[in-house]
Amino acid sequence: MDEEYDILRENVKLFSEKEIMPLSRKIDENNYFPIDLFKKMGKMGYLGITVPEEYGGSGSDYISQAIIEEEISYASGSLGLSYGAHSNLCLDNLYRNGLEYIRKSYVEKLCSGEFIGSLGMTEPSAGSDALSLKTRATKHDETFIINGSKTFITNAPYSDVFLVYARTDNGITAFAIESKDDGFSRGKEFNKLGMRGSPTGEIYFDSIKINKNRIIGEYNRGKDVMLGGLNMERSVLAFNSIGIARRALDLAVEYSMERKQFNKPIHEFELIQEKLAYMYTKFESSRLFALEALKRVNDNKMDALDAASSILYASESSEYIAREALQIFGGYGYIKDFDIERVFRDSILLTIGAGTNEIRKRVIAESLIKKYKNGGL
Ligand SMILES: Cc1cc2nc3c(=O)[nH]c(=O)nc-3n(C[C@H](O)[C@H](O)[C@H](O)COP(=O)(O)OP(=O)(O)OC[C@H]3O[C@@H](n4cnc5c(N)ncnc54)[C@H](O)[C@@H]3O)c2cc1C
Repeated sequence: MDEEYDILRENVKLFSEKEIMPLSRKIDENNYFPIDLFKKMGKMGYLGITVPEEYGGSGSDYISQAIIEEEISYASGSLGLSYGAHSNLCLDNLYRNGLEYIRKSYVEKLCSGEFIGSLGMTEPSAGSDALSLKTRATKHDETFIINGSKTFITNAPYSDVFLVYARTDNGITAFAIESKDDGFSRGKEFNKLGMRGSPTGEIYFDSIKINKNRIIGEYNRGKDVMLGGLNMERSVLAFNSIGIARRALDLAVEYSMERKQFNKPIHEFELIQEKLAYMYTKFESSRLFALEALKRVNDNKMDALDAASSILYASESSEYIAREALQIFGGYGYIKDFDIERVFRDSILLTIGAGTNEIRKRVIAESLIKKYKNGGL
């Protein structure tokens, strides 16, 4: 397996260098969503990496998905975010929880890149408190009428299919909603600090009528779909931060070797060495920890404690590494001509998106106490 992972990493690296790197500045500056790359990523088998071949996927695992996530994010944090939302938050979830109708209608098209996908959980008044959502699906025999809205949805301005959570008579239910459903509309795309080019926006549901075959998972059991996917989502998205951190570290080390002050390359100054030492240590330890967490997903041994702590540490480390890298660039780090300026802005998102670090800390502490009540680690 290790050899397979190495080959995959080499392939994604080549793809990223050829197809993504040359666009990374345009993606940020023009808020440009490179939608054509989704079809190319589909052809390479990256989008449906965790989905079996019979449904159009590559039949691999979450470690492979994390490798792709890291390498794409190294070239462009924004494309890494959009890839993660499409491939993991939407597609992998639809495959795992969807019945045959969902798999046949959406999974294959999402694997090929013919469809773009999103996960719609957050609402204007339900962010961290996601279970307080107001979107409602009312049952009428074989159909549901859906009313409500979602906000902050990655890829929403372009997506064809959305995994959406709505309140039903006795709980929450997950549904697949299509952009071509009558009553569906989109709000404007948000203008963001970072992750520019990964389109984020609002979507509205005005009496959308859908058949019950659009249910994902079980009726009134959407909370299971939401919480069941969360561990995978957190542990794969940690690699969005890790790719960004590796880029920041590379940029900083290379610059510290080129830039001379006081007739010396700046990496010879102890205060710069201290920065590089901590940056590397945090990068390597966050990556090893996140990989270990993912191995536990593959072995079905992952729990909320691993998932929340791996993304907490990866996102904090990435933000720290990118900030220190910017400092190593001195004044040039503050100028848009240098990639580190973009990488720093991109590094902040994962401390907020996919659940904030405050909520992750709460999950970690609660899981820890539960473990100790049951005998310890
Ligand atoms: C670029 C971007 C992309 C996103 N993509 C998606 C997506 O694809 N799909 C989707 O559904 N959502 C998405 N989100 C939404 C994201 O998951 C939410 O922004 C996040 O969960 C926080 O919700 P909120 O913004 O409403 O903040 P709030 O929940 O209002 O939180 C405000 C502050 O209060 C803190 N806080 C809240 N409750 C507690 C508590 N109990 N204890 C301690 N502190 C607390 C928070 O940590 C935060 O610091 C995205 C967000 C962004 C910015």
